[in-house]
Amino acid sequence: MDLSPANASPVLADPVPMNQTRLGFHSSVVFPRSIPKKKSGKVDDVRSNGWLDAMQSSSPPRRRMVKDVGGELDSDDSDRLYYSWKLKYPSALKSFHHIINRANNKKIVIFLDYDGTLSPIVDDPNRAFMSVDMRSAVKGVAKYFPTAIISGRSRDKVYELVGLTELFYAGSHGMDIMFPAKDTMSINHTHYIRSTDKKGKEVNLFQPAREFIPMINKVFRILVDVTKDIQGAFVENHKFCTAVHYRNVDDKNWLLIAQRVHDVLKDYPCLRLTHGRKVLEVRPVIDWDKGKAVEFLLQSLGLSNSDNVLAIYIGDDRTDEDAFKVLREGNHGYGILVSSVPKESKAFLSLRDTLEVKDFLKSLVSWKEQHK
Ligand SMILES: [Mg+2]
Repeated sequence: MDLSPANASPVLADPVPMNQTRLGFHSSVVFPRSIPKKKSGKVDDVRSNGWLDAMQSSSPPRRRMVKDVGGELDSDDSDRLYYSWKLKYPSALKSFHHIINRANNKKIVIFLDYDGTLSPIVDDPNRAFMSVDMRSAVKGVAKYFPTAIISGRSRDKVYELVGLTELFYAGSHGMDIMFPAKDTMSINHTHYIRSTDKKGKEVNLFQPAREFIPMINKVFRILVDVTKDIQGAFVENHKFCTAVHYRNVDDKNWLLIAQRVHDVLKDYPCLRLTHGRKVLEVRPVIDWDKGKAVEFLLQSLGLSNSDNVLAIYIGDDRTDEDAFKVLREGNHGYGILVSSVPKESKAFLSLRDTLEVKDFLKSLVSWKEQHK
């Protein structure tokens, strides 16, 4: 990735009316003309644009019964499908020696998603805690390898949940990156600024969507308002993006919540929607995602040469696919998908659940301790 000043501004990725410049996002460009009012639902909108299908497919239960032409498959058939899927995405635990052989004389860098990867998915996102064992495993890998958490949550929230100072943190899908100034190379970039953390320590911040904060705040308040009568709906402000959780919303109201969010976004062409696990995520239409964040961090750390570096990214979500793609196409290392059901992915390998993630991280630590 070229981070020279000539390429400093992320380019708007989704369609924007032609009377709005696509070369940057000054306030006159990105602010909406008026606050949208709640409108009556036009059911065809969210059905025809695929939102509802995406909501239903983005959150598979742990052992979903898989349907085929003849009806539902029993759990034995489900297991057979899972094991045949594993031929395409082998277990990272069983492939451990292969990974280590490839890492020979290379510097390993670890990237970790948080929800569903380090912590189990739970009904209340505020209670998605890591186990003591998992925290110890993450602390272990961070002792030996540069380690970054890349989450859709706000950076402050994910730091609060992980609580380890030795990591790099990228919140809001990589739109809010903070790392110690001492660990990074000097980079000349419009959205790269020096700052201090809460303890007064010098840090580097990279915030390519900084200009969108007022808009996200406004949309967050609107989304809270338009979903307040839908039981179980929960809206979170992640600073550079906002999330509407529907994991506690009755299935029969999914169409309604999708329609309400859709209607709000119609008035904000500079915002777009992505689907997470039972969450609708609203974010700026800048060309920035977890994959770009991985590239940026590798470059910031002086580790973008794939001849000397092996990156490992572990994640469970659709938004992690951007990072898997970067590692696959750049020959940078291994994407590892966390899933207990078959899913198409750009990852190379898989782990079944957070317990296997913990075992994999512990294996890395043990291997390193034996080969210091
Ligand atoms: Mg996740």
